[in-house]
Amino acid sequence: MRRQGPPTYGKRFVGNTDKKEVHDLDNEKTGPNECQINEIIRAGHARTFTPDTLEQAHRETYDNCAHCIGGSIR
Ligand SMILES: [Zn+2]
Repeated sequence: MRRQGPPTYGKRFVGNTDKKEVHDLDNEKTGPNECQINEIIRAGHARTFTPDTLEQAHRETYDNCAHCIGGSIR
């Protein structure tokens, strides 16, 4: 689920700056030990990409979340 307010402002792809992983909020998995987006935001580890694409996240060396994207590139 996309979040309209700061720090993600309705963007689709959100990076975890701590683990260098990227999540797809349109396919967010909310089970325990899955995406943990709220926890990432609360910890101050959330960032977005410009443009808001998976390709841009990969260009910035972020790896895919195994739950919402899959196919780890590392
Ligand atoms: Zn995820």
